Amino acid sequence: MRDFSIDHRWLSINTATVRAQWPLDRIVTECAQRGIRAISPWRDQVAALLRDTGMELSGYCRGGMFPASTDAGLLAALDDNRRAVDEAKTLNAACLVLVVGATLEYARGVGMPLAIEPLHSMYAADRACINTLEQAPDLCDALDPSRAGALGVAVDLYHVWWGPKLQAQIERAGRERLLAFHVCDWLVPTRDLLNDRGMMGDGVIDIPRIRGWVEAAGFAGYSEVEIFSAEDWWRRSGGEVLDACIARHRSAV
Ligand code: ZN
Repeated sequence: MRDFSIDHRWLSINTATVRAQWPLDRIVTECAQRGIRAISPWRDQVAALLRDTGMELSGYCRGGMFPASTDAGLLAALDDNRRAVDEAKTLNAACLVLVVGATLEYARGVGMPLAIEPLHSMYAADRACINTLEQAPDLCDALDPSRAGALGVAVDLYHVWWGPKLQAQIERAGRERLLAFHVCDWLVPTRDLLNDRGMMGDGVIDIPRIRGWVEAAGFAGYSEVEIFSAEDWWRRSGGEVLDACIARHRSAV
């Protein structure tokens, strides 16, 4: 397992973490000033200048959300997802993160890996029907049995930390299918199920242990900090948030 305590070479910031404070270009500048080498931007924040900064993308958020009540709505969703695949490819992202659904044939043609991100079962009613790390590799096996590299999973600790068979499912996914690793912490109590994620080290998830499993399975990419925090981290200065991300990346990841 890599030693994160000596530097933050493998720290990535999901731009949701400081989206309340800064637009994307400022986030890029502030991250670069702190020696953070990777981000995972949300599509609505991406600006053309990104390509000129030399910033690597550990992922691209997000595709999915296919269901619609009309044919026109479904066609629009498919269109939007194909555009997302093209954008991710243009930006040379490691993967396109999907919260539900897939455009596998199209993505395969473009050569852009799709990462299925299981969401916590508390979102089963309104956001996603892939809720455990067991379901995601099941889907990968069914759709991409040859492990051709077109399909994999995004492991977000907020969603999967509690899951049964977590270590076994990480091992099963293996190097080819572990496309992204998202970190934050689970606070007790959690005051809001969507927007009260904790900074690493402030909650109950044994992050180093799970990272050890992920790395033992062959993942060698970025550790991406993704924190939605309406009442805490989004209210602090962006600089304070990034500095905390760096410190906790070294001490608690
Ligand atoms: Zn995530």
